[in-house]
Amino acid sequence: MSANNAFHVAVLAGDGIGPEVMAPALEILRRIEAKSGLSFRFTDAPAGANNYLATGKSMPDATVRLCEEADAILLGACGLPSVRYPDDTEIAPQIELRFHFDLYAGVRPARLIPGVPSPIVGADARGIDLVLIRESTEGLFASMGKGVVKHEDARETLVITRKTSERLFEFSFRLAERRKARGKAGALTCVDKANVFRAFAFFRGMFDEAARRHPDVTAERLYVDACAAMLAKRPWDFDVLVTENMFGDILSDLTASLIGGLGMAPSADIGDRYAVFQPCHGTAPDIMGQGKANPTGMILSAAMMLDWLADKHGVESAAEAGERIERAVDQAYAGGLKPMEFGGRNGTADITRAVLAGL
Ligand code: ATP
Repeated sequence: MSANNAFHVAVLAGDGIGPEVMAPALEILRRIEAKSGLSFRFTDAPAGANNYLATGKSMPDATVRLCEEADAILLGACGLPSVRYPDDTEIAPQIELRFHFDLYAGVRPARLIPGVPSPIVGADARGIDLVLIRESTEGLFASMGKGVVKHEDARETLVITRKTSERLFEFSFRLAERRKARGKAGALTCVDKANVFRAFAFFRGMFDEAARRHPDVTAERLYVDACAAMLAKRPWDFDVLVTENMFGDILSDLTASLIGGLGMAPSADIGDRYAVFQPCHGTAPDIMGQGKANPTGMILSAAMMLDWLADKHGVESAAEAGERIERAVDQAYAGGLKPMEFGGRNGTADITRAVLAGL
């Protein structure tokens, strides 16, 4: 547990551009520390494909123990397409952490920062500010490593449980309520395929029960295919969405692309006690080591960490610090910052400098 305003953060920089985006985020948190009365202790720990190559494990037991002891976990990105387990799957400690710490709520905000180009016509004027919540411990991913492949067929099993769904919907309605208190719409959309699969009718039934407990939030329901089409046409109509793991995996890459690119999108995987904060993007081996990586998603993930720590420990100054980081990012983009990720000239160092200047 943290003492007063002092937080211990486990830092898993990972592979590829992971360490390249982690360094700016830590620099920004150090600057926040100097100005806010908060204090951070960062402890680095190995995880990912490079660790697997060196040791035969995705992460050492010591990394898991550190994560158990820390107040929060910051993660860069892990896995490399060229490094695989014998069954040809990638090294993914980020997914193992979700299961180990029961991080059922994958929070994927997609906010279009003014000045950042969106591929959606009208988004500049109407804005995009939504949060997709992806269940992260079951659904189709419950089958991870357990699929049965025979010569004639292959099977993976999707799992929806009452225990996880009820906590997921409670978390989602509470998030919609917190956003409403900050002036947002206060609407929650359940995204499923309840017209075809019984497991999703079960999922929707539990959503309906939770909706009755939260009458202040407008509860809506959509099939995943219709939702994908609407996200691409009218993303400004959404506030908070909640969905199954695999649907969320796909839709969160879609929502990240609405706001300028994967490098812009932060994320958090949250459970009842632990939370991991990491950008939505992967290790981007095609640009690693070239100074081109956009650290914005990682920086905004660090801001989400501060907001979560504030809520968990009742430390209001941490929430203010998180908002200060968001404002500094907005200011940097309003000043004309254009990451190389979407055709501009600004690499990792420029973006970091601009955000630090905003602070
Ligand atoms: P994963 O499966 O691990 O999520 P992925 O296959 O989705 O990874 P990424 O590593 O996220 O792929 O990269 C997808 C594309 O987006 C690549 O072309 C990469 O260069 C680009 N990209 C991802 N993150 C960033 C970033 N932070 N800055 C600039 N470009 C990025």
